[in-house]
Amino acid sequence: MIPYGRQDITQADVDAVVAVLQSDFLTQGPMVPRFEQQVAQHVGAGHALAVNSATSALHIACLALGLGPGDRLWTSPVTFVASANCGLYCGAQVDFVDIDPRTYNLCPQALANKLEQAELRGVLPNIVVAVHLCGQPCEMQVIHALAKRYGFKVIEDASHAIGGKYQGEFIGNGKYSDITVFSFHPVKIITTAEGGMALTNDAELANKMALLRSHGITRDPQQMTNESDGPWYYQQIDLGFNYRMTELQAALGISQMERLDQYIARRHHLAARYNDLLASLPVTRPWQHVDSYSGLHLYVIRLQLQTINKTHRQVFESLREQGVGVNLHYIPVHTQPFYAQMGFKPDDFPASQDYYREAISLPMFQGMTNEQQDKVVAALAQALQA
Ligand SMILES: *Cc1c(COP(=O)(O)O)cnc(C)c1O
Repeated sequence: MIPYGRQDITQADVDAVVAVLQSDFLTQGPMVPRFEQQVAQHVGAGHALAVNSATSALHIACLALGLGPGDRLWTSPVTFVASANCGLYCGAQVDFVDIDPRTYNLCPQALANKLEQAELRGVLPNIVVAVHLCGQPCEMQVIHALAKRYGFKVIEDASHAIGGKYQGEFIGNGKYSDITVFSFHPVKIITTAEGGMALTNDAELANKMALLRSHGITRDPQQMTNESDGPWYYQQIDLGFNYRMTELQAALGISQMERLDQYIARRHHLAARYNDLLASLPVTRPWQHVDSYSGLHLYVIRLQLQTINKTHRQVFESLREQGVGVNLHYIPVHTQPFYAQMGFKPDDFPASQDYYREAISLPMFQGMTNEQQDKVVAALAQALQA
C-alpha cells in the first residue's frame, strides 16, 4: 500500500537520537532549547516552546491567552478535532466558521459576517483558531484586521504548514497572530515521533506557556512570591501539566529541520506533477491563493461527482483496493457525535459538508517516487471510470 503520508528517517536522524540515549540527559537537557531556537530562528519567531504534541501546544496556547469557562473559541469545521477540543479543555464553548470553497480554509467573509451577528448578540469569540489546511495559510491579514476590530486573539494551527510562507514570509513569524502551533507527528512535514511547538513574539505569553508545560513550576527567583529557601527551592505558581518534549525527540527534530527546505521543495515538485498528471481527469485540483506558498502537508482533490458515474465512496474504496492509501481530511468536526450533542447540525456549515462529500487526500510524502505517483494517478483514472 502506498501510504498517504510517511516519515523520512535518515542515518543522521538515527545517530542523533542514539547520541542522546548515551548522554546524560534524556529529558530537560540542552537539546530541547536548541531545537526551539532552531525553529524560532528559521521561521522568524521571538520565542518557541517545544511540547509533547500539537494538541498540548494548542491547550497551553489557549490557557496562556486567558481562555476559560464562559468564553468562546471559533475554528473551521474542516480540521482535526484537536483544533476545537483545546477550547473545550479550557471550559470554553466552541463554534465554527464555514470554509472558503476554493482554499478549504476558514472563510474570512463568513468570519466577518458571523462576527457582525455575534457583536449584536454580545457573543463575540475570545479566540479564533485559524487552521492552515494542507499547509496553505489562511488569509491572515484579513483575520488579523478582524481580530483588532472585534478584540479576539488569534492562534494559527499550522500543524500542516511548517516551512510554508504567507505573503513571502515564513508561517510562524507571528506577524498576524498571537501564537502559532506546529505538529511533529510522523505524517506531518517533519517529525519528532510525537511532538509539537508553540511560537510567539510575546515574552509574557512565552513565559506563561513555559510554566504550563511543566506543572506551573518555576525555578526563577524573579517569579517567586517570596525569597528562595535554598538551592533546592522551586515554587508552583500556576496549575500546569507535564507536556514536556524529551531530549530524544528534540534531537530528532533538530536533525529533521536540516532537511526542511528540501522537504518543502520535494512536496512542491510532487504537487506540480500531480497538477499536470490530473489535468484531464474529472477532479478539482488544489487552488492556491496568491499570498500562499503552502507547506503542502496534504494534496487534496475533489471529485466532480456530477460528471462521473461513481460515488465518492466507490472511488475511495477502489483506490484502497488498488493499493493506494488514500485518506480523507477531515470529517467536519461539528458532525462528530461529541459535537453534534451540543446542538450542531450537519447543514450548519454547508461548504464544509460539500467538501466532505467530494474530498480525497492523495499520497504525498518526502520519500514518494515518481513511479509511485504515476501508480496513484493510474489507479485514480481506473477508479473514476464508469
Ligand atoms: C495533527 C494535527 C493536530 C494535532 O497534532 P498532534 O501533534 O498529533 O497533537 C492538530 N491540528 C491539526 C490541523 C492537525 O493536523
